[in-house]
Amino acid sequence: MKIAKNTIELKNSLPETVTLIAVSKTKPQSDLIEAYEVGQRDFGENKIQEMSEKWEHLPKDIHWHMIGHVQTNKVKYMAPFVHLIHAVDSLKLLKEIQKQALKNNRTIGCLIQIRIAQEETKFGFPAEELSSLVEAAKQFPNIEIKGLMGMASFTSNQEQIRQEFKNLAEIFSEFKLVKPESTILSMGMSSDYQMAIEEGSTMIRVGSKIFGERN
Ligand SMILES: *Cc1c(COP(=O)(O)O)cnc(C)c1O
Repeated sequence: MKIAKNTIELKNSLPETVTLIAVSKTKPQSDLIEAYEVGQRDFGENKIQEMSEKWEHLPKDIHWHMIGHVQTNKVKYMAPFVHLIHAVDSLKLLKEIQKQALKNNRTIGCLIQIRIAQEETKFGFPAEELSSLVEAAKQFPNIEIKGLMGMASFTSNQEQIRQEFKNLAEIFSEFKLVKPESTILSMGMSSDYQMAIEEGSTMIRVGSKIFGERN
């Protein structure tokens, strides 16, 4: 019952412009059902095998969000059903998504993950090269670039996190000038989603605050 209560409380506290992704990685299907039964339809996973198993067994009106890093050779497993891929960070990956989307006769929504964390991380696309990636993506009819995603540094320094969110929001507003149909800014997790919303997030990815701590 706790999961249902957490989901409802969180949802009711959000502005209407913000979509909640319930991050259910490592959690059993019964936990997802508890959230589903109070109306939650968007779930986030970071491992393809786990996401596929849950997709097979759970109601088909769930929107599955791949929020983790995607290896090119795994795209084919999610292409038949994935709703939105949050962490696209290379042209090579986009090409593979196009190929697999076409095979499945689908259009797949993608977000470009921008590297905003000051800490060293190998994930995320450099903001300076965003316009060339978007230009290249025009040749992919089965891909819809719906916006941007980012992850702040893993730090307790709140000012640093806020600054990183501000930077991403700035990049997003410039991005929208060239791609006005892009409406999604995916930023914010359990510990920082309120700040992310203050800085302009339209999609938050919340796990532990709904389902409890992961092991
Ligand atoms: C696990 C994860 C989350 C959710 O983290 P919580 O702190 O449990 O809310 C959000 N985004 C990504 C990319 C994740 O991997």
